[in-house]
Amino acid sequence: MNEQIKRTMEALKRNNMVPFYAENGQEALEILKSLIGKDDLIGLGGSVTLKEIGATALVRGGGYNIIDRYDENLTNEERMETLRKGLLSDVFLTSSNAISEKGELINVDGFGNRGAALVYGPKSVIVVVGKNKIVKNAEEGFERIKKIAAPKNCQRLNKNNYCTYKEKCMALLNGEHSLSDGCAGESRICCSYIVQSYQLIKDRIKVIICNCDLGY
Ligand code: SF4
Repeated sequence: MNEQIKRTMEALKRNNMVPFYAENGQEALEILKSLIGKDDLIGLGGSVTLKEIGATALVRGGGYNIIDRYDENLTNEERMETLRKGLLSDVFLTSSNAISEKGELINVDGFGNRGAALVYGPKSVIVVVGKNKIVKNAEEGFERIKKIAAPKNCQRLNKNNYCTYKEKCMALLNGEHSLSDGCAGESRICCSYIVQSYQLIKDRIKVIICNCDLGY
């Protein structure tokens, strides 16, 4: 385990979160499996990382009690309702846009369902992150969002935003910028910025850090 991962895991512990170490995606999936029960109602945050390690396919593949946001038969209205129901799941699975060596989870959301579930609602939250998402502090986390996570997510979701084509947030065109700066309109995905540090509910959030690159 490298020093950066070690520092991050120790900081997560100080912040009342439970860190786990996985050498690769397969190990991360095994740890995740050990943390969910067949009777748990499972909610899902949209995540490339969860898809890459096989977690999405696992819980959608049968045998788990899942609120399935990916069900192709859902109307838009029904899909929004599944996102809302996810807030009362027993276990919520997600990744994070960035994780800091200070033990912080840094995220930005469009609708806010993932951020809301991370903060409050589900009894247990399992976060899977690759080492590529570790940053020094929250400020670097926001920069990571503007330079990597949001542009790549906009490309994946076919959003017609500046960063989709220029691969960085338009807020970076100005030297000094705030979180509100950037594009505007219905396709913007950077609306609610969430930083989680010290947690009052001890051990509610479990973070599996993988010694490989996952998602973006
Ligand atoms: S604010 Fe708009 S341009 Fe900037 S990263 Fe977010 S979606 Fe992209």
